[in-house]
Amino acid sequence: MSGTSPCKNCGIAVEIDDPSKIEWMQSLGRTIRFKDGGEMMRDEERRYAFVTCPDCQKLHDQAVRLASDHPRVRQQLGSRYYAIIAIENTLFALEALDVKPKGFEIVFSTDARMLAATRLLGSHGDVRFSALWVPYVLAYDQSKRPWAEKRWGHLSDEKRVVLSADYVELLRGIAEKPQAFPPPAGGPRGCLMCGVGTVTALPSVQKVGGAWRGPYRAAPGTLGAGRTVSSKMIEGFLCPRCERASEAAGAIGHGAMEISILNFIGSARSPLWGDEELGGIAAWCALPAGTPPNDLPWSHMDTEPLKAKLSRRGRVLSRVS
Ligand SMILES: [Zn+2]
Ligand SMILES: [Zn+2]
Repeated sequence: MSGTSPCKNCGIAVEIDDPSKIEWMQSLGRTIRFKDGGEMMRDEERRYAFVTCPDCQKLHDQAVRLASDHPRVRQQLGSRYYAIIAIENTLFALEALDVKPKGFEIVFSTDARMLAATRLLGSHGDVRFSALWVPYVLAYDQSKRPWAEKRWGHLSDEKRVVLSADYVELLRGIAEKPQAFPPPAGGPRGCLMCGVGTVTALPSVQKVGGAWRGPYRAAPGTLGAGRTVSSKMIEGFLCPRCERASEAAGAIGHGAMEISILNFIGSARSPLWGDEELGGIAAWCALPAGTPPNDLPWSHMDTEPLKAKLSRRGRVLSRVS
């Protein structure tokens, strides 16, 4: 086989100097578009030859390097193989959008940014030229146009609009600063358990209701409220730490409070403790009505004796301040 094949990614025509570089891809059929706008699939198995152009090879090598340099991203994306594909897609999309080198640098400067980028842009596998051909040749007229005039020239205007919207969302996320949010209006002004009055979150997370969790119903009587407080249920919200703790414990109760407070002071329950309860813990919602919310989790309680007790057992981790 000699001659020219399209780059499987950017779509430009590449002179084939070495037939072993050809990648054959199997197309299962093609879509035929009718004048009235309707489409139909016609089964027609056929193999198409693709290659990787030198510029796309460089981007591939860059994706491999980035995946190696960011183990946390690799882990979050599930596998090295998938991470490289998602990073490649992101690099391709950024190049198709004419993003300048500085923009590439910003997007790949931290794990968090890289994760956001691969989530938003990395899923656009159809940015690749070969996606027009495999698994189905997308429209009959495309099979007559074997390659793109210039890099990414095969991308439709609609596709570019979608990519650019995702890029704008990515930049907005990068520019975002975390803010402190109070619990949703109408309920108690602190986390039902630890009493913290604000949760710090990105505004975009808050917008989808992610800063506070709930609503939940809690029974103050079971949360350390002595006899002086009525035992009627209170409805309110939990901070993310207390929600995780109640999920781990299976209910909003003493076990959950213990997990949350130990987590806050940087410790965890040891199996050596057996059934022994920490004791002396009360949830904020079990305090008399009108008690102001806390600046820090659990500050309605004196956690010093607890820390002392735990440190005597050698259970407080070194990161406790
Ligand atoms: Zn290419
Ligand atoms: Zn809490």
